[in-house]
Amino acid sequence: MKQSPHLFKENAKRALSDPTLKTALRRTTGLLRRRRAQVIADYPEYAAAREAAEKIKDHTLENLAHYLEMFEANALGSGAQVHWAATPDQATDIVVDICKAEGARTATRVKSMLGEEIGLPEALARAGVKRIETDLAEHIIQLADDPPSHIVMPAMHKTHEQVAELFRAKHADPAATDHIAALVESARRELRQKFLDADIGISGANFLIADTGSVVAITNEGDAELTTTPPKTHIVTVGIEKIVPSMAHATVFLRLLARAAIGAEITQYTTFFNGPKRQGDADGPENMHIVLVDNHRTEMLGGFLQPMLRCIRCGACMNHCPVYSAVGGHAYGAVYPGPMGSVLTPVMSSLQEAGDLPNACTLNGRCQEVCPVNIPLPDMLRSLRVRQFDRKLTPGMARIALKLWGWLAARPRLYRLGAGAGVLALRLWARGRGRIRRVPHAAGWTRHRDLPAPEKGTFMQQYARKKRR
Ligand code: SF4
Repeated sequence: MKQSPHLFKENAKRALSDPTLKTALRRTTGLLRRRRAQVIADYPEYAAAREAAEKIKDHTLENLAHYLEMFEANALGSGAQVHWAATPDQATDIVVDICKAEGARTATRVKSMLGEEIGLPEALARAGVKRIETDLAEHIIQLADDPPSHIVMPAMHKTHEQVAELFRAKHADPAATDHIAALVESARRELRQKFLDADIGISGANFLIADTGSVVAITNEGDAELTTTPPKTHIVTVGIEKIVPSMAHATVFLRLLARAAIGAEITQYTTFFNGPKRQGDADGPENMHIVLVDNHRTEMLGGFLQPMLRCIRCGACMNHCPVYSAVGGHAYGAVYPGPMGSVLTPVMSSLQEAGDLPNACTLNGRCQEVCPVNIPLPDMLRSLRVRQFDRKLTPGMARIALKLWGWLAARPRLYRLGAGAGVLALRLWARGRGRIRRVPHAAGWTRHRDLPAPEKGTFMQQYARKKRR
């Protein structure tokens, strides 16, 4: 599948006709939704924690410069080196320069969407540094040469049967069976020595703690510790919005993130990195570099997109999105798929390039409902559509239809009359079959399924009837 957001429609069409992808998506999104619902039901403080998280993020974003400077001072105090990057190229140049200065030939890397966002895998390849992905799902997609299709479960598009086949073809000592535990063992055998031999360990961060200068990374496999401890140098690449004021604030997010992301109370490993190895420490890197990346984030401050900077990358919005669940992450052609990606991609590329993404949404509101920091994703997607319309990026026919709808909506009596006539026409078109096979000038609606004939009367008429009863 070609990776570009402007190919969304083409990619979605191909994804919809792939039965294996459908199986993989149904299995994993279904499991994640069930687990999240259960763990939230068992967490009576959820609503209060969600409200607190929203307030903490908003406060931090209002005072972003203050907390970032506090973080920098404390990280420097703990012996780390802090770098600032305004663009992806600046960020990758910093990482590559560090690798060159160290004479590094291999780098182990913990899964990091920020790394994907700035194009770090490609930059390391150009610099001749061999990258070894250490997260199990990232290891799978590296072997398959696929981009990630989900921000938490990057190999969500693969069934475990496909993974077994891949490991048989690529692992030196593959598993004898297709059982998941045997596949995990096979990956462990493949990766263990590479952890120990790497020159550089690269990680992302889930949170940065301003008042201690700590970098927090959470994993379920322990690969963050194994990636960052044996090599001489640890490099962190992280977006500036990951900052929180203090350790107490971070714990609010730690409780929410695991629940929203994987339906667990807490992740298996939560590591707080506080600078490089100190005198007397048994192990740890000798150098620690933290690269703080902007990449359009400061442009979002103060505008309608600012709440997007609250995002803690849990992936719950995509697990609950009917569009993502049907087409998967690759169809979006961008690093960030699903509802949050449909907001972020137009910012990070352009509204022209990613114009289909804000429209790949039914505005059903589930994404905001499950978002642990209450990001108004549907409102933002709607606002992006308005901007498309204002900049004349919306296709001609859609513009005419929207203008007509707007004109009608401003005249309630005429609107009601038009809606009534529309319902009548569709009922006649269905001609007692109860289904509509084809709608003139709107073939896209009926190409893959029949439309049910409308109920008797418009919504307003039915509502009025119901109220009278
Ligand atoms: S927008 Fe909300 S639900 Fe989606 S990944 Fe970000 S924090 Fe999670």
